[in-house]
Amino acid sequence: MPIRVLPAEVAGKIAAGEVVERPASVVKELVENSIDAGASEIRVEIREGGRRLIQVADDGCGIPGDELPLAFARHATSKLTDVVDLDQIATLGFRGEALASIAAVSQVSVLTRPREQRLGQYIRVDGGQIVRQEARGGAAGTIITVENLFQNVPARLKFLRRPQTEAGHIHDTVTHYALAYPEVRFSLTTDSRATFQSSGSGNLYDVLITVYGLEVAEKMLKIETEDPGGTPSGTGLRIAGFTSSPSLHRANRRYLSFFVNRRWIQDRSLAYAVAQAYHTLLPVGRHPLAVILIDMEPSEVDVNVHPTKREVKFRRSQTVFSAVQRSVRHTLVERSPVPPMPHAARTWPTPGWERHQALIAAGKEESISTQMAMDLYRPLEGQAQSGGELQPVGPVRLPLLRVVGQVGQTYIIAEGPQGMYLIDQHAAHERVLYEQMMAEQSEASVATQSLLEPVTLDLDPLLTGILEEYLEALQRMGFALESFGGTTFLLRAVPSVLNAPDTRAAVVDILELLRQGDDPLAEQAEEHLIAAVCKRAAIKAGQTLSQEEMQQLIRRLEQCESPRTCPHGRPTVLHFSVEQLEKEFGRR
Ligand code: ADP
Ligand code: MG
Repeated sequence: MPIRVLPAEVAGKIAAGEVVERPASVVKELVENSIDAGASEIRVEIREGGRRLIQVADDGCGIPGDELPLAFARHATSKLTDVVDLDQIATLGFRGEALASIAAVSQVSVLTRPREQRLGQYIRVDGGQIVRQEARGGAAGTIITVENLFQNVPARLKFLRRPQTEAGHIHDTVTHYALAYPEVRFSLTTDSRATFQSSGSGNLYDVLITVYGLEVAEKMLKIETEDPGGTPSGTGLRIAGFTSSPSLHRANRRYLSFFVNRRWIQDRSLAYAVAQAYHTLLPVGRHPLAVILIDMEPSEVDVNVHPTKREVKFRRSQTVFSAVQRSVRHTLVERSPVPPMPHAARTWPTPGWERHQALIAAGKEESISTQMAMDLYRPLEGQAQSGGELQPVGPVRLPLLRVVGQVGQTYIIAEGPQGMYLIDQHAAHERVLYEQMMAEQSEASVATQSLLEPVTLDLDPLLTGILEEYLEALQRMGFALESFGGTTFLLRAVPSVLNAPDTRAAVVDILELLRQGDDPLAEQAEEHLIAAVCKRAAIKAGQTLSQEEMQQLIRRLEQCESPRTCPHGRPTVLHFSVEQLEKEFGRR
């Protein structure tokens, strides 16, 4: 085929894809524009998860009538004139792409009036073409309405999740901007129901309460603005916000929010900095909640690295990283009611241990390879010439084993006819529970346990979406759940394997685990769910087990069909043969 320049319409849709990934991206761009316009009130309304309608109304500066058509042109912006300005960006927008992108994949209308003009201006754009423009009366400010998003991009439409889930992402977006701008009054209306409202009082703690609830907010510690370590002058670096006391934690990192110069960003290394600050204070695999506000000179950060501006690049990333880590750690040490507890596993001397722990701390247990796990237990010296490869146990079935003891509250040492066996207690228990549940499910006889008192689940919209997505599977697996209206559910029974003291927390964790596994195929929903339940219900690493408990766990593992791996495919057992041991000790 000859080389051709793409027709404007096709090019527009392709470019739009970079900025507008899902309805929440539209909300993000529109809300950012309202903030840039100096609004003190921003009202967001959505229908059908934003697919049918997204409307953002503000009381900001408005757009002069004669400039309105230009706002829809690509690279048209009022916020930047020169490339040197790129170094000093003080607004959320500057690329002049959002309105053009949104208009390419939906029908947009704008009604806007600058305060000083008597009459406003209305414009309607359909698939990127202006179809109507006229003078109209209206309140000072801007109302932008986006309808039928992605209707003309079937490929994108296909990837949207259920309206509830999309609405959850929008909720997330609005609440995050509310956290970053406590002085702005935000409201969100979802299918005619008011679902979020911030006061605009200017006090971050007030917003924290409306977003996370009083119970959570009470356990949040204020990060002192003064950085204890001091930072290089000229960077203007300041850290503020709130971080959870060690008694409050969650199953994933979704509750870690970072804002750089009030822009909500995603940054793995900052998440890691916070995790490090909590080192040894939280149970393995748990994550803190935090709202971290990082301010610095605009020239210290490049916000123009990604079309959605969700990622930024710091000029001195190490400085930022350690300032965040120090501030959080300082807050925890100074303010936390709980004294730091040394973790038994920390002094484990094997090389590779730190990386192993870091992966676990990062919630990436799945990526620990068999090789890594094996290397962890390789003798320190002479491994190269030993030749005797350390392997996950060979035969499918396990021989009868005798428990010798527990190491690092994580691994069980056992003896068998062919030598020594090292068993990961969490992985092993996951396997046991998984096979038990799979068997019960195939016989349609899932053992359930009724709760003495029904438990009320008050979920956020994102988790409500997940719950609804999995509702049938959950019910088949023994969760007796009923809708109590809106985002509230009543739980009357759970599968017996889920023998947790705090049922509510357990169910929330399971929903979180389901959320992480992206887009499960419908027919896999149940397996997905079973794996999540088992992961939550299984004995954790770091739990001390009695001799009987260990023996019982191993008996049950011996009876499994595939005892050698956990449901995620990681090894449950490593085997050191008698020959290997003899070789390593130089007896042969
Ligand atoms: P950017 O925000 O990067 O400048 P956009 O495509 O988002 O690009 O918006 C284009 C222009 O439209 C903005 O620069 C601004 O002048 C104007 N604009 C958009 N939304 C609003 C609003 N809510 N209030 C006032 N002006 C707006
Ligand atoms: Mg913008």
